[in-house]
Amino acid sequence: MSVFTHPEFDNHEHLSFHCDPKTGLRAIIAVHNTSRGPALGGCRMFPYSSEEEALTDVLRLSRGMTYKSALANLDLGGGKSVIIGNPHQHKTEALLESMGRFLESLGGLYIAAEDSGTSVADLKVMAGCTDYVAGVSSRPGFDGKPSSGDPSPATAYGTFVGIQSAVKHKLGRTDPDDLEGLSVAIQGVGNVGYRLARHLKDAGASLSVFDIHHDNMNRAVDELGATAVSADEILFLPVDVLAPCAMGATFNDESIPRMQAPIVAGAANNQLYRSGHDYTLWQKGILYAPDFVINAGGIIDVYYERIGAEPAVVRSHVESIGDTLDEIFARSKRDERPTGEIANELAEERFEHHPAEVRIPG
Ligand code: NAD
Repeated sequence: MSVFTHPEFDNHEHLSFHCDPKTGLRAIIAVHNTSRGPALGGCRMFPYSSEEEALTDVLRLSRGMTYKSALANLDLGGGKSVIIGNPHQHKTEALLESMGRFLESLGGLYIAAEDSGTSVADLKVMAGCTDYVAGVSSRPGFDGKPSSGDPSPATAYGTFVGIQSAVKHKLGRTDPDDLEGLSVAIQGVGNVGYRLARHLKDAGASLSVFDIHHDNMNRAVDELGATAVSADEILFLPVDVLAPCAMGATFNDESIPRMQAPIVAGAANNQLYRSGHDYTLWQKGILYAPDFVINAGGIIDVYYERIGAEPAVVRSHVESIGDTLDEIFARSKRDERPTGEIANELAEERFEHHPAEVRIPG
């Protein structure tokens, strides 16, 4: 297995592998870039079929966090960690404590938050062994409501704001608070997708949903009046907005030609099968809200958890996602180039030319 020559390596600053036979922990921490501050990103637990697959995932996700935090104007770098194992079978308190000690051994270079396969409760167990976890403090959330530290509500709200921006640019709707009659298809109505669906419904949109977890889909149907559709239909409906909020790699050579929605704006990470697919979407006339821009609400929320701020400050920062997207959409139109390309360039400007001394308290 190659590391420095790995196709996803992209000049990562740091990569650590940890094995603890006593607890069964096998984990990797990847730190892509710390020019804006310590690397903050989720700790994912997943039953990877190979070490190669785990390494590829952590490198891609870690790099993505550098871009996400830079575009959200946070004093944070990009990093991510993965635990190799099935969260439903292999997760034990001892394993999580071992992960906490692994985090501690890096002395704050990387701070872990929740991700797929890990919960607030899991991060709290890790926090017994290290200070370097985030997304664990009960406090008023960005909306002033009690929050467990789960970043999903802020992610959902940021995605909603991003959809408002996309609708303004592509469909020319002038009042972003009035989405009456807007049709939206949501793939995945879990923690983020369901909350996004609620925001959209409250603004007057009509919803179509699909989720492989039928209880989640039924909740959206029963509580929000959404229409349930099949796995084969959800990406190809003639709706105004397609909001992917499940897993990644949704947009590829097979799916894009069949899509009808003029806007793609959702919270899922790594939506494009490969980076060039933003060009394919753009060529087809589809306005794509780059995933790492529109789904930054959670990292913004977690950042403020560490430094402390009033809910109104957090909310206003989450709402700035709409301004960033406005700029990206405008530049894309002016320069006749895909939105993903523009977003990458904007992020690179922000982390490559940032003074390295910025630090948040560990
Ligand atoms: P979640 O696990 O709570 O929800 C995901 C939902 O998608 C689940 O209900 C699952 O059953 C469903 N799903 C999985 N595969 C599917 C498929 N092929 N088709 C339809 N449904 C499918 O996760 P979440 O926290 O809501 O995150 C959703 C996405 O947003 C993920 O890609 C995540 O990486 C990304 N994201 C989440 C946050 C956050 O704050 N939670 C922040 C940034 C990005």
